[in-house]
Amino acid sequence: MIEKNIYENYSIDFAEDYEVHSQTYCFIFNNNRELYLTEEKKIPIFNKDQLKKFDLEFTLYIGKFNDKEVVVANTNNGNNFHNLFELYEISHDEYQIASRAVLIRDWYKTHRYCGGCGTKTLLDKKDMMLICPECGQMHYPRIAPAIIVAINKNGTLLMAKHSYHKTSRYSLIAGFVEPGESIEEAVYREVSEEVGIKIKNLRYQKSQSWPFPNSLMLGFTADYDNGEIDVDGEEIIDAKWFKPEEIDILSSDISISSWLIQNFIETYIGDK
Ligand SMILES: [Zn+2]
Repeated sequence: MIEKNIYENYSIDFAEDYEVHSQTYCFIFNNNRELYLTEEKKIPIFNKDQLKKFDLEFTLYIGKFNDKEVVVANTNNGNNFHNLFELYEISHDEYQIASRAVLIRDWYKTHRYCGGCGTKTLLDKKDMMLICPECGQMHYPRIAPAIIVAINKNGTLLMAKHSYHKTSRYSLIAGFVEPGESIEEAVYREVSEEVGIKIKNLRYQKSQSWPFPNSLMLGFTADYDNGEIDVDGEEIIDAKWFKPEEIDILSSDISISSWLIQNFIETYIGDK
């Protein structure tokens, strides 16, 4: 995962219906949330005329990156679109901006009309928020908090196999925060629901924006307390304790999951 602060080379700003007037970083998405890259697999830096060649649904200004203006746009046609995972492997810096850009694109694209009454929304003067002039409903970009936890039992790591994963990979316990619960309650509940055990010494580690589609991942470590592994056989097919040397390293280090697993291995390898 990227540990660099996004604001090292990016500053926040926002404007809609933006007219590009200089060399501008253009994050152009299609309706599949894929991103346009140049032949050299870079984010294009376009002037006004180059950007006009795209049939754009909207163009939003979202601040400055490497001292150049940044716009986010959406189009329904064209070639050379790539998924964000691909961009991560090419450029961490550009991926970091793209992972913000896609969330703004999603919000703007899906809240042009009020979900409450159907009236066309207006951009707020102060906040990056779309407001309904009819019923007053406020529409902010939506971020869904989710937890992920690496659970240690005497130098072994708990991982579970989910039925919805395409591959048969074991992964850390993770899940969305439910309305009305705290982050900590979410961790205890998810662990209990997925594998039936109790944990202790819950410790927050770090967080990560995860735009697939709109999560904020909150990463924890914890220790086993009591109980036997008990999986439902439907959502979770299996769960077990892995020694550090038994853990398969993920092919990409994009996620906080890979950071937590790597961190566990480094802490406990050679312990047993
Ligand atoms: Zn409304």
